[in-house]
Formats: sequence, structure tokens, C-alpha cells
Amino acid sequence: MITSAFQATLVALMIGGIGVGAYLLNQPVKNSDSKTMNQPREEWATKLKPLNESPKRDDKVVLSDSEWQQELTPEQFKILRAQGTERPFCGAFYDNHKKGTYHCVGCDLPLFKSDAKFDSGTGWPSFFQPVEEKSVWYKEDFSHGMYRVEVLCARCDGHLGHVFPDGPAPSKLRFCINSECLTFEESK
Ligand SMILES: [Zn+2]
Repeated sequence: MITSAFQATLVALMIGGIGVGAYLLNQPVKNSDSKTMNQPREEWATKLKPLNESPKRDDKVVLSDSEWQQELTPEQFKILRAQGTERPFCGAFYDNHKKGTYHCVGCDLPLFKSDAKFDSGTGWPSFFQPVEEKSVWYKEDFSHGMYRVEVLCARCDGHLGHVFPDGPAPSKLRFCINSECLTFEESK
């Protein structure tokens, strides 16, 4: 195996030149690799200051699972309280272009404004920033063999979606949020 890999590398270098070989060697470990679990968090994620525990605030909404089940639809409960994900291109807001504010369906905290919304083509409502830095908090998510950063509501700790480093300026972030977690208040 080592010999054939070595031969393949030599051939690759001969065909593509040393530049290509150097490029391949510099590629990061893929997210699906189990080694990612032990990798230090990535630089862009560090800037978001991910937490392990919910941040304190005076207006915190804390309910038991059975109380949440009374408040939410089964689909909302599955996403907000059990880290679920809705199917793409099916939610109420991925294609909503009206002006207004998106609130948390669990606790009504304003989370995102329409002027920070953009069409990411993913089929989920996408934003480049929250209403305020303190509207949401971040948690590292190593589930499904991937490294992701989870976005949670700062008031009720509901799971909203994930944030990725491939959004537009000024933040370069893409908040990929489930429609089911949001209500929309149109501005007059
Ligand atoms: Zn909330």
C-alpha cells in the first residue's frame, strides 16, 4: 500500500508539478474524519466564543420538556428542544423577502432582522448577523462526525440552527436557521 501510494504521489507530482503536490499536502483534515473530534476549534469559531453552558440573563425562560411540549408543535419541539433540522425548501421563511423582525418561537426574543437576511440557496432562512450579539449564544457541536457551531436562543436556550464561516460581508458568517424556530413580525 505504501509503495503504491508513493508511486501514485510521484506520478501526481510529475503530472501536476510540485505546486499541486504541495497544495494537496496542505489540505486540512476533512470534517468527516474522526480525528476532528479532538482537533482544536477553528479560528473563525473561536471568535464567536462558544460556551458549554447557557449564559445568564435576567429574563431567562426555563421550562421542563413537558411544559415545552404544551407550548410548541411537535415539529417545533423536535427542532428547538431536541436539536432537530427541518427539511430544506419547506420552511415558511427561507423565501420570505418582507421587511421585519424574526423572533424566537419559544420565547419571542427578537433574533434576526430582515436586513441581515440573504438568499444562501440552501433552502433555510439565512442571516449574516443576529439582532444583537447577546440575542444568541454558540455551542460547539461534534455530532454526526462533523465540526459545527450550534446557534441557540439566549433567552430560552432553544436550538435555532448552525453558523458557518461562508456568509457575506460584513460578518462573513452564515446563520443557517430553521423556519420552525421563528415567528415573523412585519414592519409597518
Ligand atoms: Zn427563545
